[in-house]
Amino acid sequence: MAEIPPFRPAQPPPARTRAVAAAGALLFLLAVAATGARASVLHGVDLSNFQNEFPCDNASVLIIRPHTVLDVQRAVASHATVMASGAGHSWNQPFFCAAPPANASAPARPPSGAAVIPTPGSSVNIALTTLRPLAIEVNASDSSVWVDAAVITADLLQFLADFVTEDAPAGWTLPAFPWFVFQTVGGAVATGSHGSSLAAGSLSSRQQLLALEVVAADGSLRRYTPEEEPFLFRALRVSVGRLGVITRLKMRIEREVPVRRTLTRLAPSAFLARMRELQAAARAAGPAALMTPNGTVAALPAWANDTEWFWVPQKYEFYQVAFSRADAPGAGAVSGFVPDNTTVFSRKGDMLALGELEFPATAVANLTAGATAGAQPVVVVPPGGPLNFTAGARLYARSAEGLRRLVAGEINAPLPAGGPPRPVDAAQGQPWAEPAPNRPSLFYAASNMAEGTNEITRIGIRDVAGNATVESTAAYIKQPNATLAQLRRTPYDQYEVSMPLAVVGDCFAAVLESAYGADIDGADAANRTVDKGFRTAPLIRLVGPDDGLLLYINLEDYIFYNSGRRPNARFRAIMAALTGDPRCTSSGPIRLHWGKAGWPDAGCWRGDEQYGINWCSFGCAARTLDPQGKFRDSAPDRWTWAGVDLERCCGPNGFDAQREGCACTVRHERPRDKCPPPPFYTSR
Ligand SMILES: Cc1cc2nc3c(=O)[nH]c(=O)nc-3n(C[C@H](O)[C@H](O)[C@H](O)COP(=O)(O)OP(=O)(O)OC[C@H]3O[C@@H](n4cnc5c(N)ncnc54)[C@H](O)[C@@H]3O)c2cc1C
Repeated sequence: MAEIPPFRPAQPPPARTRAVAAAGALLFLLAVAATGARASVLHGVDLSNFQNEFPCDNASVLIIRPHTVLDVQRAVASHATVMASGAGHSWNQPFFCAAPPANASAPARPPSGAAVIPTPGSSVNIALTTLRPLAIEVNASDSSVWVDAAVITADLLQFLADFVTEDAPAGWTLPAFPWFVFQTVGGAVATGSHGSSLAAGSLSSRQQLLALEVVAADGSLRRYTPEEEPFLFRALRVSVGRLGVITRLKMRIEREVPVRRTLTRLAPSAFLARMRELQAAARAAGPAALMTPNGTVAALPAWANDTEWFWVPQKYEFYQVAFSRADAPGAGAVSGFVPDNTTVFSRKGDMLALGELEFPATAVANLTAGATAGAQPVVVVPPGGPLNFTAGARLYARSAEGLRRLVAGEINAPLPAGGPPRPVDAAQGQPWAEPAPNRPSLFYAASNMAEGTNEITRIGIRDVAGNATVESTAAYIKQPNATLAQLRRTPYDQYEVSMPLAVVGDCFAAVLESAYGADIDGADAANRTVDKGFRTAPLIRLVGPDDGLLLYINLEDYIFYNSGRRPNARFRAIMAALTGDPRCTSSGPIRLHWGKAGWPDAGCWRGDEQYGINWCSFGCAARTLDPQGKFRDSAPDRWTWAGVDLERCCGPNGFDAQREGCACTVRHERPRDKCPPPPFYTSR
């Protein structure tokens, strides 16, 4: 771990940083006029989620709207409890709200709504999306990118795709990315967000995440790499805000290649046969043999690698989305592709065909922004200014033009006019108002709309996942930008469970039985008319190799909110099968997504049972990085190591269960028989 700059308390942001932000504002107006703005970023207006649900307690938690990383450092140093906020695209409120101050004395709030002077007892959430300027720095020579944590994943992907150089004529991409791309990169990594890729795993995997810069509990800005801090880096890969505020990430990138996407409709029995095949292969190989030393996945059927499935329960259909990559060994799937040549599969082909071989001046802008002034210069792409190139990489003129527009118009767009003012000292917490809840949408609620919404879902799947041969970023499926406004207006919860590949066949047999009874293909027409409780398609994905190879199924419950907040019994039955049926849990407990809904009632989630010794190793990391509990959130019942002697049992590589008296067995206050049965929650 390298400490980046020494922490310097109470310095105003350097004037130069502000000048850059102002230039960005001017260019933004021009860009809006030319292209129209994308309203996909939430700018720290309040501390609810993206659907105005699950607000933090605004009587005890203030909001910080930082200008610079230095503001973040000062805020961390001066407040009692601190939690990072990304774009609010999650449903797990206890994890995304700072813990109330230990002595629970709410900070004084002036009636005028003016900024509150931080007091040692105050709790704050830091809205990272107000930081400006945000930077992306591509290093083509080692296939990596440094990206500021608050950059939206979609913007990073577009930046990489448009980074067209002589030796990467198709641009760049991330090895694998989530279906949803409107979260911040920092938020995505904090919760282990993922798409479907056995080879590349989640955004937090060792294939993808190479280094992190984190504001630590004492306010210092530190850099961690797996080489220098192997143990702490393992904990930092998925930290849910509990170990510090991630400000910058180094991710692996790869050249875009043509990818053929193929959509196939399967009956439930055919889907189940595929799951059984995967399960058999996983069991035959055994957990260790599934991974080769360099982290790639062996011994699984080749068709599985990037494949994912949409399930339309009401229609008895699974839509399999499979990918064949031009760079796969022995591919031949995409004819006419010459790896070292310009591809003709995207508009970048046009760009090059136009003969625009003029390169822009390679002036480097070494802007030293905020906290990094005086230390290693941080090279940023300034809005509208000259772009920075790593040695040897020269951008084509049109590529540079597009990047400049993206950086100025989207990534560094000014905060919306009329939004909450930021105090001069942005490390001060400010009060915020709870937003009005969104109104339920009758469209999703009415039982006679099941047919209509399922039909729309089917059309949507064909639209985003239909057959095509395009470059990587366009080929792998993404939630369309156009659906975002609708997503925000229509409150729903998204749940996600993951299971080891060793049980996927048996577990899906249980799930299909729960949804359909014995008639899993809907042979009897009468069965097809029964409402299955879904208004949208669960997405089933394969992810590895992080901790183990897992299959994730993510399900969405539209009905709870839209039917006057009544539980959705059919949906709950599926969740109960997934989390409680022995056919799903025989290889270990089902895990939940850190950013999503469906977590057990307070005191009923047990980290030691879910993650075994890794849970106590995470406790060791928390003890090292955050001994005073600065980054405590409002889920003390989850982050507990009660009864485990971390002081004695933590070693340099984490929890050492070999030491005498060192078992990772946490004492839980709430007895198991006082918890609800599967799916273990009562709220929905
Ligand atoms: C519609 C929708 C679809 C989704 N689809 C997918 C999907 O396809 N695949 C998938 O895996 N996930 C998916 N997610 C989940 C989403 O990727 C995660 O919830 C992600 O954490 C949201 O990021 P955010 O920037 O909005 O962070 P927030 O929601 O603001 O925060 C989430 C958590 O991360 C922590 N955090 C955020 N930023 C930082 C930081 N800089 N440093 C430290 N901690 C931080 C917060 O404290 C909080 O605990 C989806 C979410 C939505 C809303």
